[in-house]
This record gives sequence, C-alpha cells and structure tokens, in this order.
Amino acid sequence: MLKTVEAFDRIGDENAFTVLARATELAQQGRDIINLGIGQPDFKTPEHIVEAAVKALRDGHHGYTSATGILPLRETIVTSLHTETGANISPDNVMVVPGGKVTMFMAILMFGEPGKEIMYPDPGFPIYRSMIEFTGATPIPVPIREENDFAFSADETLSLINKRTALLILNSPANPTGGVTPRSEIEELVKGLENHPNLPVLSDEIYSRMTYDGLRHTSLMEFGQLKDQLILLNGWSKTWAMTGWRMGYAVWPSSLIEKARKLAVNCWSCVNTPSQYAGIAAIEGPQDGVDHMMQAFGRRRKLVVDGLNALPGISCKTPKGAFYAFPNIKETGWQAKALASALLEEAGIALIGGPDFGVLGEGYLRLSYASSQENITRALERMSNFLSQKSN
Ligand code: PLP
Repeated sequence: MLKTVEAFDRIGDENAFTVLARATELAQQGRDIINLGIGQPDFKTPEHIVEAAVKALRDGHHGYTSATGILPLRETIVTSLHTETGANISPDNVMVVPGGKVTMFMAILMFGEPGKEIMYPDPGFPIYRSMIEFTGATPIPVPIREENDFAFSADETLSLINKRTALLILNSPANPTGGVTPRSEIEELVKGLENHPNLPVLSDEIYSRMTYDGLRHTSLMEFGQLKDQLILLNGWSKTWAMTGWRMGYAVWPSSLIEKARKLAVNCWSCVNTPSQYAGIAAIEGPQDGVDHMMQAFGRRRKLVVDGLNALPGISCKTPKGAFYAFPNIKETGWQAKALASALLEEAGIALIGGPDFGVLGEGYLRLSYASSQENITRALERMSNFLSQKSN
C-alpha cells in the first residue's frame, strides 16, 4: 500500500457525483430512476456557443494560450462585469480557469494552513470544507438558517472573524438552499469588513444570473472598497448550460493575480482554447437561451415547492435563486441521508441528503429541479406514495 502525504487522507468528496454514479448503475440494471440529484441544467448549450468553439478549432485556435486566458475573453468579462455591477476592473485581474471550482481550490490553497481558520457557509457547497481540511486549516462553518430564508447573516458572519481568520467564503445565490442574501444584509457585511481590510473574501457567485421574481443579484463587485481583498468566482457552467466545458473565471486583487497565474502554469497551463472562444460567444451573443431556461426553471420551481409542501411531514420555502429546493423533512422522523438513500433504492428518485452539504444540512434534502416538469411530477408522486406507505 502506497502512503501519500497526510493531506490526502483529509480530502473530501462531492456526494452528488456518488449519487449520480449509483443512479446510473441502477438505471443500467433496468430501473426507472428520476434524477433530481446532480446540479446541472438539463438544457443544451445554445447553438451559437457550440458553433463558436467549432469555428475556433477550424480557424486553428488549438494551441496554448496565456495562462490567464485569451485577452478578448478577459476583455469581454470586464465589459460584462462593468454592465452588471458598475465595477471598473482591468483584464489583467481576470483569470479564466477550467470550471468555477478551480477558483475556490486556488483561493483555499493560497490561504489555508494549520493554525489558520477559513469561514464557509454550512450548509454549503461541499468542496469548500473538503479543501479547507486538505490544507490543514480549521473549517469554521457560518450557519445558514431556514428562519433567515437561507441568507447569510452579516452580524453572525462578522462575529466569527478573529485574528486567525485567513479567508471568508460567501455564496449567494446559494447551493444547496437556493437562498439569496438581501442587498441590505450584504451592505451591512461590507460595512463590517471595513474593520478587516486585510481579510481575503471569496465570493462564489456562480448562480449570479439565476434569480427569480425580478429579484436582482447583489454582487460583491459592486463595492469598490473591497477591491484589494475580493476574489470573485463565477463561470459559464450554470448560466449557459456548460458544465462539461469546464469554464470558469475569477477576478483577483492585484496583489494575488500573479500567484494565481503561476499556480495555473504549474498545473493546467491554460483552459482549452476552443472553449475560451465559446466563452466569448456565450457572454456577447444572444441571451434568449438563458431567458428560456430561467423561465422553465421558474415554472418547475413552483411545481416542486407546491408539490413538496403537499407531502406529509415536509415543508419547503420558495428558493429565490439557483435551481435547488431544500425542503425541511424533520417532521417525517427520517434522518436526511437515510431518506435520500431509501428514496433512491426503493422509489427510484436520486436526490441529495442535506448533511452532504454540512452538519446544519441535517433535516433537509436537496432536490435539483433541473429536470423536466414530467419528471418532477412523477418524482413527487413517488415521494408521496413512499412516505404514506412508510408512515402506515
Ligand atoms: N460553486 C457552487 C456554489 C456550485 O454549486 C458549483 C457547482 O455545482 C460550483 C461552484 C462549481 O462549478 P463548476 O462546475 O463550474 O466547477
């Protein structure tokens, strides 16, 4: 048995992929599985984006690029961020990376080490904690509460910052809860951060374009006073249904971009070139594909929330963003992971138990409604039958 360095005994996982593997295995055995587990849009990448990648290859764009990404793409990102947030940034601070995840990986590696603390949302995206533990830093969960509509609390967040805090991770709109933190709360947090000008803040805004009912996403980029401490994480995966393209981007403070660039050079050199051209087409081209997808998600959101609230022992808040419902199942008497597993094995519904997103996820399930209305309706019927049989 080969022994790696200890850090690899601490690295975690993303259970959504384990559930996906089990769901695929059951489907291959002939079972009818409805997949509400994995967090990816069930729409095709819009055609003009695909064409841009094909054209790039035909035009001979298949060599290495700059490690931070081709300049026209970084310029496109700068322009769109200016339009969306008013921020005036330089393309020199932008870095294109193979997926949104990569920015959290880099930021946590940059600031995590034994003796340091990194704050992250709980429940939250599981890779935050996994990577924090990998570095040997102490993970400090920032509670995300249902009674607060799954927004983070500025007060509670600020109260957890101390001299050991090396990085603060924020996420809105949020996975797994669909929570969107209101502007007033973000303003309060930004005000409190004036007392911590040397604290790096990683704002994961991968779901920035995915809000409902006309609610506007508040980006930390809107607050110019954070410019020397803010790392912005965003990407193409969710907005343009491009999860498999592996395309993300970050905005780094000037003091960090060179370190980020070197890390890329040491690992992946650059993001695959045709995808970068596709990235330009996605941002600059027609947005009707995004609008169409968001309208569909809006209809499904209602279907899933109404359906869940009609089930015995289950209550579900209406998520304000992303494409996840996070129902409270405490009254059913089930432990969340046991229920998720029983629903997969016995009822053929793949979804994720809340504890896969942190200790505070106990008592909840995560359902991705990136699935057809027909599938959602069938899944709700199966859940209803399952729960009524089990409570008899
Ligand atoms: N951040 C959050 C909150 C996510 O939910 C995800 C994906 O599910 C990511 C980042 C990673 O995105 P990507 O697939 O682009 O790496």
